[in-house]
Amino acid sequence: MLLKDIFQQKDRTFSFEVFPARTPEGDIRLIHEILKEFSLLKPDFISCTYGAGGGNRDKTLAIVEHIQKAYDIASVAHLTCICHTKNEIATILKKIVAKGIKNILALRGDYPKDNTNAPIDNYKYSSELISYIRKEYKNQFCLGVAGFPEMHPLSSNKELDIKYLKNKIDCGADFVITQLFFDNKLYFDYVKSVRQAGIKTRIIPGILPITSYDGLIKFCKGCKASVPEEIHNTFAPIKNNSKKILEAGIKYAIKQCKELLNNGAPGIHFYTLNKVEPVKEIISIVR
Ligand code: FAD
Repeated sequence: MLLKDIFQQKDRTFSFEVFPARTPEGDIRLIHEILKEFSLLKPDFISCTYGAGGGNRDKTLAIVEHIQKAYDIASVAHLTCICHTKNEIATILKKIVAKGIKNILALRGDYPKDNTNAPIDNYKYSSELISYIRKEYKNQFCLGVAGFPEMHPLSSNKELDIKYLKNKIDCGADFVITQLFFDNKLYFDYVKSVRQAGIKTRIIPGILPITSYDGLIKFCKGCKASVPEEIHNTFAPIKNNSKKILEAGIKYAIKQCKELLNNGAPGIHFYTLNKVEPVKEIISIVR
């Protein structure tokens, strides 16, 4: 199902991001346990990453196809362009069509840390990927893009960052999912600026339930998301007590999601890190 049809029916969506496992055992657990448990929470859609953080790219389409076929849940394939040739992208899109996948989160991606040699014949920005998909496939896909409440780390200023977001929408994107953030003011200010720039699409906030303090610091360093003092003060003293961290992470996310939803956010996209329990608890309260 196209996400834009779901968006027409629902003011709010609750969705999950998963990532392909790194081991064959992990694959089995993801396919047979984790996704099954997530499906029982009846999300509006599930998205699967593509090579994020140097992770796997080959399994994304199979996972997305499985989510649709096994659970009849709308799903979204992330697709990054910078490390592929244009021919490779054309081939991947043919596979996406063959698998009956209808929704794509169209991204630039990043060069791997150990190899900055991208193919020369590539799409340099997600907007170029979007333009290509729209040219070749018209309205066959619903296309999402990434948005950055703190601006993308490579952007020189927020105005320019939003100008490029507007370009992605003008090239044919239908919705935006944001980078994670912990201070809701970042999201509200971002949405305000985005609307002032004339962008009308949904800006779905991306929320990471905290399950590990050290993991959080590493994750945020990787994607250059800021960590407020409140988070350090709450989580650092209990960082070696996994039960307390989990409880505090759920409490923080519930507070964050409630405030977002009460102030007009069109749902929540959970960065699940393939962990069911926290999302299950949070969604049971905030939905
Ligand atoms: P772009 O939109 O191409 O923007 C990249 C930079 O270029 C920005 O600074 C932008 O302002 C600037 N820019 C854009 N257009 C132009 C232009 N025409 N001229 C000059 N500058 C321009 N990464 C993965 O590898 N796999 C994933 O599955 C994945 N999933 C993600 C999901 C979400 C919701 C988010 C928020 C991020 C995800 N990422 C993923 C990370 C993403 O790939 C990186 O943040 C990447 O650095 C930027 O991708 P983008 O699509 O935003 O790039």
